[in-house]
Amino acid sequence: MRPALPIVIVGAGMAAYSVAREFRKLDKSTPLLIIADDAGDAYAKPMLSNAIALGKGAAQLVSHSAAQMAAQLDATVLAHTRVTAIDSASRTLSTGQGSFSYSQLVLALGAQPIRLPMGGDAADDVLSVNHLADYAELRARLDRIGAPARVAIIGAGLIGCEFADDLLAGGHHVTLVDPNRLPLAALAAPSLSAGLAQAWAGRSLALRLGTTVASVARAGHGFVVSLADGSAFEADLVLSAVGLRPSVALAQAAQLETRRGIAVNAYGQTSASGIFALGDCAEYTTPYGSAVLPYVAPLLAAARAIAATLAGTPTAITLKNDAVIVKTPSYKMALAPPPAGTSGAWVDEHDGERTIARFVDPAGVLRGFGMSAHTPALRQKLLAEM
Ligand SMILES: Cc1cc2nc3c(=O)[nH]c(=O)nc-3n(C[C@H](O)[C@H](O)[C@H](O)COP(=O)(O)OP(=O)(O)OC[C@H]3O[C@@H](n4cnc5c(N)ncnc54)[C@H](O)[C@@H]3O)c2cc1C
Repeated sequence: MRPALPIVIVGAGMAAYSVAREFRKLDKSTPLLIIADDAGDAYAKPMLSNAIALGKGAAQLVSHSAAQMAAQLDATVLAHTRVTAIDSASRTLSTGQGSFSYSQLVLALGAQPIRLPMGGDAADDVLSVNHLADYAELRARLDRIGAPARVAIIGAGLIGCEFADDLLAGGHHVTLVDPNRLPLAALAAPSLSAGLAQAWAGRSLALRLGTTVASVARAGHGFVVSLADGSAFEADLVLSAVGLRPSVALAQAAQLETRRGIAVNAYGQTSASGIFALGDCAEYTTPYGSAVLPYVAPLLAAARAIAATLAGTPTAITLKNDAVIVKTPSYKMALAPPPAGTSGAWVDEHDGERTIARFVDPAGVLRGFGMSAHTPALRQKLLAEM
């Protein structure tokens, strides 16, 4: 007989569906209830920043509808339902559709785009793309404008650079604004950042580096973007890609320990018993201290361990060193940046075909790397050295 109370997972992103999938491999009978405030459709979020050049619409990025996921996981998926409160003492959730009791709870709430304060009457028209619905909005706006659109992107980090390269390949004109002197400055060695900038040189992509956006104002059907250095340019569309902030408000209100993300121990458990967290909302325990790791590989590792723990075998999360594959076909890179605050220096090696940059600490230990024209074998070799 099935136990009366379900395991409840809040969220329907990659973290939520990964933990549900892993759990079902181990336990076929415990009821699963997945509650999400979006449509609950499954999609691979990394595709959002390379789908324009492929001409894909939002619907084409959906791998399984919410109903298909429910059938596949033998779960109930409650879509368009926001969880508004957690009572960890009575193990109850409040939602717009009533209250739900849980035996164990998994928070897979994701993160929210950071919105920089800026002047002008069009700051609210600036779009951030962190969800399938945002991508649908981006596609709709591009379709209305028609190609080539003049797109301003605020932030030349990983997501900003990927969207820039994708929009460029899709035939649009891009202006990329960032306070750093090179794109990808926080993640890549200067030699690789320069390689990316070089790959864009002479194309319809303007880099406006060393400055920030002061205001975005409406002008005709488009916008005027004014920069802190006193210059200004016109754009049909403005995208913001200045980073994400883990969604912690629900956990905070329930008195769970939060730092930048929802704090979890080596097992993915929060400070409340029976409540776990993973994915972009979580702050993991790592050998280098606690860290928010907003990438697919850590959430898959966390999903496997949390699923085993939920199924009755307490299992610690094994976070492996991994490299981020930067989806900029103009200049392919794999990056394994050193942990924040690591002292050391970048050492470059060029072999004609590729640049390999190693971040070496004062004791000569490899703490991070990046490379262009990467191959799986080379990535694995350097990861093994770290
Ligand atoms: C454009 C882009 C490209 C990326 N590319 C890569 C890549 O190449 N490689 C890589 O490793 N990583 C990449 N990432 C990061 C990776 O995609 C994310 O780390 C991962 O998808 C996060 O999944 P998640 O389930 O934690 O969060 P999300 O996908 O954000 O899911 C959160 C879920 O929680 C729901 N939710 C939130 N609050 C509530 C509430 N109160 N009640 C109910 N439901 C709620 C949301 O509706 C959503 O369903 C990329 C990210 C972006 C944005």
